[in-house]
Amino acid sequence: MTSAGYSNFIESRRLLEKSSLSLAGGISSHVRRASKPFPLFFRSAAGSHVTDVDGNTFIDYSLAWGPLILGHSHPSVVGSIVDQVQRLDLVGAQHELEMQVAEKICQMVPCADLVAFSNSGSEAVQVALRVARAFTQRTKIIRFEGHYHGWLEEMLIGYRPNQLFETIQGNDLTPSFKGYDSRICVLPWNDLSRLEDALKKHSSEVAAIITEPILCNCNCLMPLPGYLEGMRDLATRYGVILIFDEVITGFRVARGGAQDVLRVTPDLAVFGKAVAGGFPLSVVAGKREFMELIATGSVLHAGTFNGNPMSLAAADATLSVLDADSGAAFQRIRQTGERLMRGIRDRASEAAIPILVNGVGGAFHVAFTKETATHNYRETLVCDLRARDKFIESMLSVGIYLLPDGRWYVSAVHGEADLEITLEAVQSVVESYRDELMADR
Ligand code: PLP
Repeated sequence: MTSAGYSNFIESRRLLEKSSLSLAGGISSHVRRASKPFPLFFRSAAGSHVTDVDGNTFIDYSLAWGPLILGHSHPSVVGSIVDQVQRLDLVGAQHELEMQVAEKICQMVPCADLVAFSNSGSEAVQVALRVARAFTQRTKIIRFEGHYHGWLEEMLIGYRPNQLFETIQGNDLTPSFKGYDSRICVLPWNDLSRLEDALKKHSSEVAAIITEPILCNCNCLMPLPGYLEGMRDLATRYGVILIFDEVITGFRVARGGAQDVLRVTPDLAVFGKAVAGGFPLSVVAGKREFMELIATGSVLHAGTFNGNPMSLAAADATLSVLDADSGAAFQRIRQTGERLMRGIRDRASEAAIPILVNGVGGAFHVAFTKETATHNYRETLVCDLRARDKFIESMLSVGIYLLPDGRWYVSAVHGEADLEITLEAVQSVVESYRDELMADR
């Protein structure tokens, strides 16, 4: 920490102003715009810590929006990348690491008979939708409110619907995208009867149902007991492809992703973020009968950087670390995260501040609300975003870097000391700003 404390962001502000003269908005992804007090500039990072250009060092629970499952610059990942860049940088052709990583993923992920690589989660989603449409010869896709499946056109429809959202949450991360596309059918999540009704009426046109198995992009909501199992049964009954978007949950919540923990196997799944521990790689994985369409070339799947050796070297190292000792890293992540979740709840409760902590150890969310449970996007609209923003900004001022939407990511290298410092920080923030953090005040 600088002697002036964590509130000194002078150099970040100067750089943001300068950068904005040549880089649109001074940022490279829309969601970073929402950072409070404004998008900061960082100079270095190691393990669970990041250091900004003003010399402030923070414990990092943003993990670059999820990928850094082994923390920053994990020695195995760095070693693998350095070695790879010296041997084979990029070929635009085949190399053995592709197979090595593909085999690992097929061993780890229940639905994975075959995989295909691309670079971002948004792209992988498009590949999965294309496979589903080609296989079923149908065009409609069922998706759910509040789920994020990348920033490409048709998948933004229904992400954050309704006027209410725009009025109440105008300052949130979300572009007010009011699109319409007759191929996209948007439903509330965690409501099996609505899904069944839609399938009864439209199943002959529906190619796929796509869902985040744990709704990390909306307060880390959990599926209700039986919901995903019911969705699985309905998809099978109506001949619709079930796609799990595991871009966040994959290689984060368990060895085989959310499908492994929740014991529901989709037809196809997409992965990104954590799979390469901080390098750009995404994966479509699925049952052979569907993936054969890519294998035979019936469905086009292309990309200059697909399967690039750098990302695969990072993935190879990341997956080896994660899979060692029967997946001990996942247990560590889950335990650290669960202790944080409990600790945050306890400190808020001692200060009589109503909060709702949802999710699992590796990815959870802290909402400010008197509600004791929320199950879908619309129910989360009552949460107090001013209190959330105050909390996040106050945590920054005591050395804890969080994502602007209230989500926390935990890595395999967040340790005991981080946990202690973080919970002390939570305590000092809830005590110092009690009035401002009171939900629905
Ligand atoms: N799917 C989910 C669940 C995501 O959270 C994201 C990104 O946050 C994506 C897809 C898109 O991934 P990318 O940003 O790599 O394109």
